Amino acid sequence: VNAPAPVDLLLRDATVLPLTEAGGVLAHTDVAIAEGAIAAVGPTGTLRVAPARTLEAHGRLLLPGLVNTHTHLGQTFMRGTAECMRLEDWLQRNRPYTQQLTAEDVYWFSLLGIVEMLRAGITTLADMFFFEEAVAEAAQLAGVRACLGQGIIEVPGAEGTYGPAEKRLQNSADFARRWHGAADGRITARLAPHSLYTISEGTLRETAAAARDLGVGVHTHVSETQTEVENCQAAFGRTPPAQFEHWGFLEAPFLAAHCVHLTPADIGLLDRPGVGVAHNPSSNMKLASGQAPVPRLLECAGLAVGLGTDSAASNDTLDLWKEMHLTALWHSWPEGAPAARRCLEMATRDGARALGMSEQIGTVEAGKRADLILVDLEQPQMAPLNSVERALVYAGLRSKIDLVLVDGEVVLEDGALLTVDEQEVLAQARGRARRLLAGLE
Ligand SMILES: [Zn+2]
Repeated sequence: VNAPAPVDLLLRDATVLPLTEAGGVLAHTDVAIAEGAIAAVGPTGTLRVAPARTLEAHGRLLLPGLVNTHTHLGQTFMRGTAECMRLEDWLQRNRPYTQQLTAEDVYWFSLLGIVEMLRAGITTLADMFFFEEAVAEAAQLAGVRACLGQGIIEVPGAEGTYGPAEKRLQNSADFARRWHGAADGRITARLAPHSLYTISEGTLRETAAAARDLGVGVHTHVSETQTEVENCQAAFGRTPPAQFEHWGFLEAPFLAAHCVHLTPADIGLLDRPGVGVAHNPSSNMKLASGQAPVPRLLECAGLAVGLGTDSAASNDTLDLWKEMHLTALWHSWPEGAPAARRCLEMATRDGARALGMSEQIGTVEAGKRADLILVDLEQPQMAPLNSVERALVYAGLRSKIDLVLVDGEVVLEDGALLTVDEQEVLAQARGRARRLLAGLE
C-alpha cells in the first residue's frame, strides 16, 4: 500500500468549474497542489495525499485564474481621463502625458494595475508598453504571471520614453532575451510593435524576422478601426491581417489585439494555431471603434480568442468580469448559444491558448500550474445558484474573490494581498498621477 503523497496545499470541498473541454460543475471536490502545480483533483475525501496545509473551500467556487490578454499597465494613471472620443484623437491627446512617464512611474502604475487585477482574479496578463523592465519587475514582485513586450513605436519625439529611434527594435529584442522564462517561467516575453500605422515598413519587416530568430511571439494591435483598415488598403493594397501575413508575422506566435474590422478572407488567414485575438469590448465601445465579429471568430478551429481589458485609459477598469459580461450581452450570438460558458472559456482556457500557454494554465486539471481562484458563493447576487456559469457572467461583476494562487503561491487570501504593500502603491500612484496629469482638462 502506498503512503499518502505529501502535497503543499489541499483545497477541501470546493465547487469546481474546471473549464476543461468536457468539464461541467463538480460539487464537493478536493484539489491538491504540490510544487506549484495541480497534483490531483477528486471527490472530497478520496485523494490519498498528506497536505502541509488544508484550506476549507466549502461554499466557494474554484476556477482557473483569469487571463487578461491585452493591457498597457503603464497607462493606469490615465483612468477616468477621457470619454466620447475616437481612437485617433484619443491617441494624439494621450501622447504628451504618456511621454512624460519615467521608468519609476511605470513601475508604480504597473503595481497599481496588477493589484487591481489580482483582486479581480486575474492571474495572467499580457502587457505591451514602454519601460517594460519596470513592468517585469512589478510583475515579479506581485507574483502575477505575465507575457510582456517592450513596445516599438516610431511616432515623432520622446526619445526619453521610447528610446533612441534606431534602437527600438533592438531594445524590444534585448528585453525578450532577458525576460523570456524569468521568475521560474512566470514571465515570458514577446516583441511588441505598436501597430502597422505607427511604425515604418522596414522596421516591421525586421521585427517579424527578429521574432522568428529569437523564437518568441509578437503582440500588436490589428484592425482596430475602420480608418486603420482604409489607410492600410491605400498604402499597401491589403488589409492589416493580410499585410502582417505578407511581412511574415504569422509564422511566429501572433497575438492580435482588437481585430474589430475583419473580412472573411482576414478570418481565414488568422485561423491557424499560434494566432490569438484579444477581444476588448469596453475599449472598443468607449472609443467607438466598432464591434468585433466574436461569435464568428469562435467558430475558427485554429485561432484562439481571449478577452482583454486594454488599458485603464480606455476602459477604465482592469476587470475581466466586466469584459465577460459585455461580451455575452453585446454580440449577436446564435439563438440558444451557451454565451456565458463561451465567455468564461475566453477568459481562461482560450485566453491561455491565445498566449501560447495552454499546456501550462487555463483549466483546473492535474498537471497544470496552480493558477486558481476561489469565488465566494455566499453572496446575494449568487443566490439562487440556478446556473454557475450564467451567475458568474451575468451577475458576477461584483464577485468576491477570496483566494488567489499563482504558480501554487498564495498571492491573496481573506481580502489581503500578501506580496505588495497596497497602501504604498495607492499613495505612489496618486502622487505620480497628479504630477503627470497637471494641466489636463
Ligand atoms: Zn491596446
